[in-house]
Amino acid sequence: MKYSVTVFPWEDSLYCLSYFNNRLPVNNMSTIELKPGREKMALNFNPWIFSGAVKSVTGDPVTGEVVEVHDCKGNFIAKGHYSPESKIIVRLLDLGRDSVIDEAWYYEKIKKAAQLRSLIIDENSDAFRLIYSEGDFIPGLIVDRFGSIAVLQASSAGIDAVKHSLAEILMDMDKGILSVYEKSDGDGRRMEGLPVSKGLLAGKPVGESAEVIENAFRFSVNLSGQKTGFYSDQRENRMRTARYAGKKKVLDICSYTGGFSIYALRGGAHHATLVDSSAEALKLAEYNMELNSIDRGDFTLLEGDAFNTLRRLKSEGHRFGLIILDPPKLAPSGRDREKALRGYKELNLQAMHLLEPGGILSTFSCSGHVTAPLFREAVTYAAKDAGFNMQILEQLSQAPDHPVRISLPETEYLKGLILRKQ
Ligand code: SAH
Repeated sequence: MKYSVTVFPWEDSLYCLSYFNNRLPVNNMSTIELKPGREKMALNFNPWIFSGAVKSVTGDPVTGEVVEVHDCKGNFIAKGHYSPESKIIVRLLDLGRDSVIDEAWYYEKIKKAAQLRSLIIDENSDAFRLIYSEGDFIPGLIVDRFGSIAVLQASSAGIDAVKHSLAEILMDMDKGILSVYEKSDGDGRRMEGLPVSKGLLAGKPVGESAEVIENAFRFSVNLSGQKTGFYSDQRENRMRTARYAGKKKVLDICSYTGGFSIYALRGGAHHATLVDSSAEALKLAEYNMELNSIDRGDFTLLEGDAFNTLRRLKSEGHRFGLIILDPPKLAPSGRDREKALRGYKELNLQAMHLLEPGGILSTFSCSGHVTAPLFREAVTYAAKDAGFNMQILEQLSQAPDHPVRISLPETEYLKGLILRKQ
């Protein structure tokens, strides 16, 4: 085993407890027994056990501990992390009865994730997602690389308990990682009943920001900004969208720090108007433009709400040749789906009105609860209500360093369409 764990059972920390429990003989592990028939999803590799599926809990598992999941007849199904506070009460890690969820287990999983990235990421990019939670078979763990910095998000109690070890594994496996910085502040964490947690986990201290390259464009990433600071999931879509940018006037709605606009301007667009409700994001967009030698006269920054700005631009008679719509998650939960679909429809409808004939719309939804067919339906209704016939040129998804787990459709969250107005 490459990594050995030093466990001191007398140290009363969750981390030690978790590892201590991991090392107990299998038959001493706490057990979650499922209601009849509720093991089927797990046997099909879906890693989520919802609390409603549980018949009984045997033993006295602590939050974050590795437990065994059994069917109603006592047959072993899988091992996973226990989160009693969460609706997802167990996140399954392994279907092997004899598997041990120790550092060697994490090491193997992380290695496989890293191998995938070595196929996808070339020397023109050093910002990418190294580990995508369930998509990389490590539920609860997200790691983004920004140059020599790895930003770790622990969104489950089980991963939270072992995050320091994981940071050591990351640094040991990839000598290019000089710092592992934690930024655990996502929605998932709140739902697990875990507090926000930020700070250095391993390696050299990090500054407020880091400079990265993506497809040879330069970006400054604010480590204290949104998500882990940069949206690598749009890497490929920025490139595809920029193909249509030549000589166009661009409107970049929800621009964040300027990703799409920088690609478009460097791809030959005449001018870009960036709209975002965050002044801080726009300030960084301006800086990123400078990093990419884009003249200040080639872009306009508008701080404001997307819906209102679209309506205002329309009433003022503006027209654009390329419009990008990349709003934040409009459906944070399944309950918000209908409202979100109305929001997507309205945004797309307004954008279609602002497009010149022959103009291109590059439109996205990052709501996991809005499927690709539903999103397309919202865009279809927008075109219908706006009275425009449109062509779908491309159907887009998240970049492959955010792999979709076939047994968990929720891992497919980003969907996009590139359309052309008649
Ligand atoms: N297109 C960006 C990512 C967009 S993320 C990129 O390629 O990097 C979503 C952005 O929407 C965030 O920057 C957020 O500040 C902004 N936002 C959130 N609500 C908004 C609103 N009501 N109007 C305009 N922008 C909004």
